[in-house]
Amino acid sequence: MSLKLTIDAVGWRSWTSEFARANPDCIPVIKGNGYGYGRELLAAEAVRLGANTVAVGLFSEVESLRAGGWTGDIIVCEPWRQGIEVTDPGVIVTISTLEDLANVAVTNPQQRVTVELLTSMKRFGIDPKTLATQRMLLSAARVVSWSIHLPMRQGVGDVLPIAKYALGIEKLPLWVSHLSAGQVERLSDHTGVPVRLRVGTRLWLGAPKTRRVTATVQEVHQVAAGERVGYWQHRLPGKGWLVVVSAGTSHGVAMSAPTAASSARKRLISVATGLSEGMGRARSPFTIAGKKREFAEPPHMHSSLVFVPGKRPCEIGDEVTVEVRLTTVSVDEVILNLPADQNQASAP
Ligand SMILES: *Cc1c(COP(=O)(O)O)cnc(C)c1O
Repeated sequence: MSLKLTIDAVGWRSWTSEFARANPDCIPVIKGNGYGYGRELLAAEAVRLGANTVAVGLFSEVESLRAGGWTGDIIVCEPWRQGIEVTDPGVIVTISTLEDLANVAVTNPQQRVTVELLTSMKRFGIDPKTLATQRMLLSAARVVSWSIHLPMRQGVGDVLPIAKYALGIEKLPLWVSHLSAGQVERLSDHTGVPVRLRVGTRLWLGAPKTRRVTATVQEVHQVAAGERVGYWQHRLPGKGWLVVVSAGTSHGVAMSAPTAASSARKRLISVATGLSEGMGRARSPFTIAGKKREFAEPPHMHSSLVFVPGKRPCEIGDEVTVEVRLTTVSVDEVILNLPADQNQASAP
C-alpha cells in the first residue's frame, strides 16, 4: 500500500552503460532524492558504470554515497564556505568566491577544489575577469579544475569565451554541465584541455520505458450522482466509483492544473451546476481502467480520492500507474527487477 518505483534493471542498465560509453569520463550527478531512485542505489550504479568521480548537491549528501558503496571522488556542488569542515579525503569542494578561495588556501591547502566560474546562469561562481589578478591565490590552493554550470540549450560558442579566458589564467581541465557528447568533444578540441560532463537527468532518467511508478487501490466505493465525499465534501459530478489510491501529497503527488474547468466559461458552468463547487476538477496522475481520472478532491498525505464514472473500474489491491516527475516525488519502495536467474533486489 504505497507508492512504488519498479525498474527493469536490464533495460535501465543498458541505457546508462550506453550513455556512459557515448560520454566518456562523464561525472554522474547523484543529488536530492536521487532522481527518484535514491542516492544509495545510484551510488551502486555509478560503481557498476566504472565512473571514477561523481557529484552531489550538498555536503550532507556525501555520506549516503559512501553507504551505497561509492569509494571514489565526490564533487560537492554547493559552494564551500569558511567553517565547513571536510573530513572525507575523497571530497572535492566547489569554490565560488575569491574570499573562499583565499580561506581554503589558508585553512586547508591540501583540500582539492574546483573553481566555479560565473555564467549567464547567474547562480554562483567567480567572474573570470576578477581572477586575472589572482594567480598567486590560484596556486596557493589545490585547484584541480574549472567548473562551468550552463543554462539549458547552450552551444560551444556560448562557453568558449569564458573557458578560454579562464584557461588563459591557468590551464586546467574543464568540468561542464548540459552539453552533448559532440559539444564536449568540440570544446576539448578548441581548448586543448580535458572536458568532463556532469550529468544527472539524461543519464538516470533517459530511458522512461524502463521504469514504472505505481500505487495500490486501497478501497473502491460505489457512489451516487451528486454525493458529497472527502474532507471537503465536494459533490461528485455523476454516479460511479470513488477509488482510494495509496499516494498523496506526502509522496509529492499533487494536483495538476485544473483541466476540465480551465477556461472562465467552463468554471462558470461548473459553479452554476454546482458539480465541483467552483474548485475546478483536476486531472489526477492516476490511470485507472485505461484512462487518466479526475481527483474527487485535492489529495492529502498518503492517499488520494479519485472519481471514475461507468462500470466498476478496479478492485482493492490492484496497482495503478502514476505519472510523476521523478525528481519531485518520494517513493516508498524501489524494486530493481533482475532477470529470473538473479535474485530480485529491493532497496528502501
Ligand atoms: C544538478 C547539476 C548538474 C546535473 O544536472 P542535470 O540536469 O540533472 O543533468 C550538473 N552540474 C551541477 C553543478 C548541478 O548542480
